[in-house]
Amino acid sequence: MEFNTALLHGKATDDKFGATQTPIYQVSAFSHDSAETLGKVFANRAPGFSYSRIGNPTVDAFEKRIAALEGGIGAIACSSGMSAVTMALLNILHAGDEVIAGSGLFGGTIDLFGDLAQFGITAKFVASVTAENVEPLINERTKAVFAELIGNPKLDVVDIRSVSEVCHANGIPLIIDSTTATPYLVRPFEYGADIVVHSASKYINGGGNSIAGIITDSGRFRWDSGKFPAFDGYKIFGKFAYLAKLRNGFWRNAGACISPFNAYMCSVGLETLGLRMERICDNAKALAEHIQTLDGVTVNYPAIETSPYHDLVRSQFGGKGGGILTVRAGSKEKAFRLINSLKYALIATNIGDIRTLVIHPASTIYLHAADEQREKAGVYDDTVRVSVGIEDRDDLIKDFENAIRRSNENG
Ligand SMILES: *Cc1c(COP(=O)(O)O)cnc(C)c1O
Repeated sequence: MEFNTALLHGKATDDKFGATQTPIYQVSAFSHDSAETLGKVFANRAPGFSYSRIGNPTVDAFEKRIAALEGGIGAIACSSGMSAVTMALLNILHAGDEVIAGSGLFGGTIDLFGDLAQFGITAKFVASVTAENVEPLINERTKAVFAELIGNPKLDVVDIRSVSEVCHANGIPLIIDSTTATPYLVRPFEYGADIVVHSASKYINGGGNSIAGIITDSGRFRWDSGKFPAFDGYKIFGKFAYLAKLRNGFWRNAGACISPFNAYMCSVGLETLGLRMERICDNAKALAEHIQTLDGVTVNYPAIETSPYHDLVRSQFGGKGGGILTVRAGSKEKAFRLINSLKYALIATNIGDIRTLVIHPASTIYLHAADEQREKAGVYDDTVRVSVGIEDRDDLIKDFENAIRRSNENG
């Protein structure tokens, strides 16, 4: 089966009425026919559900679909993308441990690493996550490398194969935030990633109607090397050790579960991921190529000829560049005029919607970041971030052309 067919027919639901989607089981608890049965369900010795913080059929269906799509052995859905990032890391890290990460990360993840410092967890940042930058920073305290596949909003692209080789040679896992790439561009496990996280609020949901996150495990990383003693008690789970530890530990106890309703919305959205991404990538490339021909602005998009990532995008993503581009307008005033002159793009802090969204990152998402930190993330005073939607291409191109012309007037 190819991508879109697999999205629709990869797994039939087992609903007794033949429902075409796993319905929303909007309940907190599940009753059982005896105390013994509930005891067995609790002890994972019988199939079934007990309490929706620990498991729910609608959530389970969403997790299975994502695991299948990524080619992983299992997935755990979370209340948000940030929750997924947090849980994926805390399942591994202890006081005294270090993580290596890219400085162009999503702002929330940078802030999270700041929060983790009070628990003795240190993040070491590299300008971009490459094998050459990562290797010299690895020491015996390093427990993971964390990278965004296509940085939001820096739009730098990670060469998963070479980075995962350095990680594995040193016995540490590579965790990839694949939110902006989506499984439509690449399945990171095929290139050596060990854990993949998504903010499902974005492209997976697609309609901008739910906050959600998900963690998928390749099942290939060896946690029993002696570097991760907290996994000793999970050896009986074999390749499922990471997921078992998370599901029975931090995820459950921190209460990071997704609501059944949001899991349902993400499952429905997921079915059109291929169609939307095809359209979004085509629109984004056409828009970037057109903006490139206009005066007074520069554009950054990983799939255009002038991008340093053009070749990597071709070999790793089949030439598709995703849905985000950034435009530098020349000054903050011009950037604001550009944004305010757009007719169709909504001014909003989100990505991955079917509608085109724009934002001025420096005065919003990066408001509290130091100038240096901001520039390392590829955010300047004149940067406009565009999350391209599925509108008709010529409407989008005309809208941006007009807005850019206006931004250049009386400037
Ligand atoms: C949005 C985003 C997140 C956080 O996801 P939420 O669902 O908003 O919590 C994490 N990583 C990336 C790359 C994102 O774009």
